[in-house]
Amino acid sequence: MNCPICGNTFNPYTAGKPKTYCSDECRNYFKYKNALEKILLSLKPTREAKKVIKGDMFRLSNLLPNGTNCLSSKKEV
Ligand SMILES: [Zn+2]
Repeated sequence: MNCPICGNTFNPYTAGKPKTYCSDECRNYFKYKNALEKILLSLKPTREAKKVIKGDMFRLSNLLPNGTNCLSSKKEV
């Protein structure tokens, strides 16, 4: 099964109830992303504050590592 967050393959039937995500990190990402979406929808920022928030979102997306765990993908040079 592929993790819906990171896309890596994992076994959902390791112990206990079947897992939806491969790791606590992916489960937390889903949880916090949903929470953040709700907050963003309820915020009423000024134009300036909105720019700052959008900058924050952009910075967050750049925290993702460039590499990938997928064995079939070629390494970018
Ligand atoms: Zn994952």
